[in-house]
Amino acid sequence: MIVKIRCPKCDTEGGFSLAEPIYQGPYRCWKCRELFTIRIENNELKSCEPLSEEEFEQLQQIEMMRKKMGRG
Ligand SMILES: [Zn+2]
Repeated sequence: MIVKIRCPKCDTEGGFSLAEPIYQGPYRCWKCRELFTIRIENNELKSCEPLSEEEFEQLQQIEMMRKKMGRG
């Protein structure tokens, strides 16, 4: 499933592939490289807030840990 996300900064549309219809986490615009925290419900973008590089790295680490734990 690909959800379309329009970057609030540069107005460029990007595709975000999802395994589940609900997602909350980091998104990086492919064009301007701006970072956002996005929330997707039922394959629709519900919120998009600016994210700092530092916060983005923290979220990525959490995500990696989750994946490792999920696979046992
Ligand atoms: Zn952008």
